[in-house]
Amino acid sequence: MNQAKYQRVLLKLSGEALMGDGNYGIHPETLGYVAREVKSAVDLGVEMAVVVGGGNIFRGMAGSSQGMDRASADYLGMLATVMNSLALQEALEKIDIPTRVLSAISMHQVAEPYIRRRAVRHLEKKRVVIFAAGTGNPYFTTDTAAVLRAAEIHAEVLLKATKVDGVYDMDPVGNTTAKFIQDIDYMTVLEKRLHVMDSTAISLAMDNHLLLVVFNLRESGNIRNAICGQAVGTKICE
Ligand code: UDP
Repeated sequence: MNQAKYQRVLLKLSGEALMGDGNYGIHPETLGYVAREVKSAVDLGVEMAVVVGGGNIFRGMAGSSQGMDRASADYLGMLATVMNSLALQEALEKIDIPTRVLSAISMHQVAEPYIRRRAVRHLEKKRVVIFAAGTGNPYFTTDTAAVLRAAEIHAEVLLKATKVDGVYDMDPVGNTTAKFIQDIDYMTVLEKRLHVMDSTAISLAMDNHLLLVVFNLRESGNIRNAICGQAVGTKICE
């Protein structure tokens, strides 16, 4: 099956997705791999927006646990997402994918400001739109930003690319008895406190009837296959 099931999608990449096997920063080969995975999905003709995290560089929680004011630490985290967004833009344009970075924090010299209608216009022109700086507010995550932007642009699905195959009933790292879950609803994710996204992101997705697919980015072809509606990872809906 090589036809897109969805016409407009939002892809959430964690900062760690750009880190490779290292423990900090951006790994050039991994960045190139991610760009090629995005390209194979874009080649289906879909409109694609991307939200990139910043955890490979800075997380607000880590800063505040070391005594930094939480809001200040979160702004550092948001700036980290801008760095990742610019790196991803560069990698995508190297393989001839037109992109625009739209930042929730004004930074005119490096990115356009986030304006919803402008984002939609770019998508209609088949540019990959990279949303940088999360929601622009401290105390949020880029998962929440991904849900928010997906709702704003009326994306049909939110694709969350991770390091694991999908959602498990317990953390699969180190737990050999963890069971894979193929389909689940948001309320169960909240009740069982499953580690999919933070509860703010999950609630917002549930309230806005958003379809979420969680899958492994390390398996080549998964972004494209998820867009084609194949059984990839875990599906979460209302
Ligand atoms: N952040 C924020 N508001 C947002 C999005 C992100 O304050 O709307 C900050 C927060 O400190 C977070 C950091 O940016 O820890 C990086 O984002 P996130 O942890 O979501 O990145 P990921 O885990 O996806 O790499």
